[in-house]
Amino acid sequence: MRIPIIAGNWKMHNTVEEALQLVNELKKEVDKTDVRVVICCPFTVLGEVKKAIVDSNIKLGAQNIHWEDSGAYTGEISAAMLKDHGVDYVIIGHSERRQYFNETDETVNRKVIKALEKDLIPILCVGETLEERETDKTYEVVKGQILKALENVDEEEVKKIVVAYEPVWAIGTGKTASPEDANAVIAYIRQVIKEKYGEEISEIVPIQYGGSVKAANATEIMNQEDIDGALVGGASLKAEEFLGIVNF
Ligand code: PGA
Repeated sequence: MRIPIIAGNWKMHNTVEEALQLVNELKKEVDKTDVRVVICCPFTVLGEVKKAIVDSNIKLGAQNIHWEDSGAYTGEISAAMLKDHGVDYVIIGHSERRQYFNETDETVNRKVIKALEKDLIPILCVGETLEERETDKTYEVVKGQILKALENVDEEEVKKIVVAYEPVWAIGTGKTASPEDANAVIAYIRQVIKEKYGEEISEIVPIQYGGSVKAANATEIMNQEDIDGALVGGASLKAEEFLGIVNF
């Protein structure tokens, strides 16, 4: 019922030349799949990548926005600026931004609201640290992150978002949560959404897994009942590897 969504998070990688090479390799193959494919690029290549994918099934995403429309926010990028470049999706609350750039549940919430207001689809990231997992706080942490991120987001709006469950200890480490574990947390996230918005809406929201997804483990992850896709970092930088995930 929910269409799987595979999103590449390029993070701080790829010049224009590198980006175009990668995207041109991807687009020939991506056109053959039914999966929704998004690539979340650095701001500096959005314009060129948009031109390259205009005749393909690949959707364009960014990795962050600011919650204000405009103003004296040196170094920041607004939702309207992203729309200007043909962006459809935006990653919000990635753990690297929470960890290195002081992003909090409150700023995540403001960004989610702004993205929705400007017709951008938020890919809302949540996930526990290793310490939180080891002290059995995974469920509590994830619930808190989801509920705070969705404060003042109404039923019509929440239907548009994508959630990505990314255990922090699995990102870029080569360690993945076991598919069953990831599925259990994702089923729980759906339960949290159900308690807040009702069953019908909870069944609409796609929930991805992220953290060391690669071609070799994509099938077993994607075969889990509640997992609706993947947010892919490192493995999205190589066409062959990313296509292996897209064609899981
Ligand atoms: P990874 O990153 O696939 O390199 O672990 C995932 C992410 O940070 O979104």
